[in-house]
Amino acid sequence: MTAEQAYFFTVALINLVLAFSGARIKDPEGKQKSILFFTIAFTANFLSWFLYVFEIGIVLKIVSAILSSVFIWGLVIFSYKRCEYSLPLTLVTAMFVINSLALGYFTYVANFNGALHVSALFVPLAFCIIGYLFINVKKHRNPSDIVLAYACFFMAAGLAARSALLELSPELFSATIISSQVIWPVFSVISGVFALLSFTEEAQFKLKEESNTDQLTGLANRRNMDFTLNKEWARAIRHARPLALVMLDVDFFKKYNDHLGHQAGDECLKTVAKTLLQKIHRPGDLVARYGGEEFLLILPDTDGFTAQHLAEEICASVAGLAIPHKHSPVGIITISAGSAVLAKNNHTDIGGLLRAADSALYEAKQNGRNQSQLAI
Ligand code: GH3
Ligand code: MG
Ligand code: MG
Repeated sequence: MTAEQAYFFTVALINLVLAFSGARIKDPEGKQKSILFFTIAFTANFLSWFLYVFEIGIVLKIVSAILSSVFIWGLVIFSYKRCEYSLPLTLVTAMFVINSLALGYFTYVANFNGALHVSALFVPLAFCIIGYLFINVKKHRNPSDIVLAYACFFMAAGLAARSALLELSPELFSATIISSQVIWPVFSVISGVFALLSFTEEAQFKLKEESNTDQLTGLANRRNMDFTLNKEWARAIRHARPLALVMLDVDFFKKYNDHLGHQAGDECLKTVAKTLLQKIHRPGDLVARYGGEEFLLILPDTDGFTAQHLAEEICASVAGLAIPHKHSPVGIITISAGSAVLAKNNHTDIGGLLRAADSALYEAKQNGRNQSQLAI
């Protein structure tokens, strides 16, 4: 095997490994089948390089050229699907066919310059599309998406520059041949690895979200609440700032469930949660599902007066939903609230502050519900 054949073999293997790696990835649930096109693209690129390990004739050289354009346009299709943008299939297919025909033709007539100019036209176009999709279209952009996009922009600029150099300064162009041999395998690795890493980043993000979110209501769950409470408690103590907690509990909810069923109860909890989120939108505040039909608001830098006012507004808003509740004295779903504030070290631990909010809530219940009480 010559050094050149060893080079082609190595680059081919890099692409094969990436194709296999792609085959191990699953598209996120409900997303378009993007990874299939990733695997197709890298398999085509593997074959395209692998053919050159052998002394091949003109036909296989043309096949290799076509496979290289399968790689480029396969990556474009992958990007459209990965970024969940509607794929202009006719346009992409047309580009692929023209690209393949032009590249095949110049390979057939052994016109190296022609083939290079064709690549310098189509590949930058494809790579700019990919870069644009990952930078401007993809909704949840992961850090790896940005690396992939800029790798594509870099390649697009490099290929266009080489094509221009070939015409303007052949000596300078010759000086870039070695670097172009380095850059293609490097691009395969960067584009392949970061495209796949993006799936991992997405899965990690989703997992973190899910582990912090209550499935039914979409609010922060207990785990998230405990974490935030500890963090805000420490911050409030350190900076001698007030920290308000508002505990909320749906009135006569057991009767609502018993009368209308658990599913209706769930829908009611979702509606109440939505109302809470509409009321609490200051950055840093947290609305959590404490458990069952109980919720907790964590309001940093908030004094008792403000917390009480907010809690009253929330009680009024929930009552304003006018969700019918036959077994409630007022005939609709209502909510009671109890607020407590950490101020001037009036509590020694988080448990004490929570108990104070809970006692205030109990008082609100005792006083007839559908109201808010502030712990003194
Ligand atoms: P009070 O006005 O004193 O708060 O009366 P209550 O009936 O609301 O109080 P209680 O704590 O006795 O009842 C809470 C009920 O909430 C019991 C349970 O059936 C219901 N519940 C708790 N979690 C869920 C849930 O996830 N979905 C549904 N549908 N109901 C739930
Ligand atoms: Mg309760
Ligand atoms: Mg209740």
